[in-house]
Amino acid sequence: MHCPFCGATESRVVDTTSDPEHDEIRRRRLCQVCGKRFSTVERVRAELPLVIKDNPGGAPLRREAFDRAKLRRSILTACAKRPISEAAIDRLIAGIEARLRAENLGEVSSRVIGEMVIEGLRDLDEIAYIRYAIVFLGLEDLAAVQGEIERLLKQKYSNEHHAQPR
Ligand SMILES: [Zn+2]
Repeated sequence: MHCPFCGATESRVVDTTSDPEHDEIRRRRLCQVCGKRFSTVERVRAELPLVIKDNPGGAPLRREAFDRAKLRRSILTACAKRPISEAAIDRLIAGIEARLRAENLGEVSSRVIGEMVIEGLRDLDEIAYIRYAIVFLGLEDLAAVQGEIERLLKQKYSNEHHAQPR
């Protein structure tokens, strides 16, 4: 690691901070030659794919870095006041990241990620699941949301009556 001021390679770590939300470790270094300070960031290398945003109206495709904090916020919103622990939400996100890493894609549609969230929430809490689906599918697709609610109710009904699903 070269000092950005003098190019020397001898530096000493004077402070280390971790940012779990972004899965980053930052190190403050002191150059042993010129005495100036600089920072380095350490991040896991198995990279997550870029996210392609859906573009209603035919706007040009936008690609952005996978943003765990943003994904977490959107899931927390759907889970507001529901009996779901933050640990469960973190596990859901970690699972999604693991799947994305395993598939080793260069880029992935935001739709695919949304579907993974929906799938995960379906097992956690049906209200959070429906809330997320409504936001994700959008109000244009109310029929799909209605279909999902009917499917859930039917499933619940059949579970309560120990009936076999058709
Ligand atoms: Zn230096």
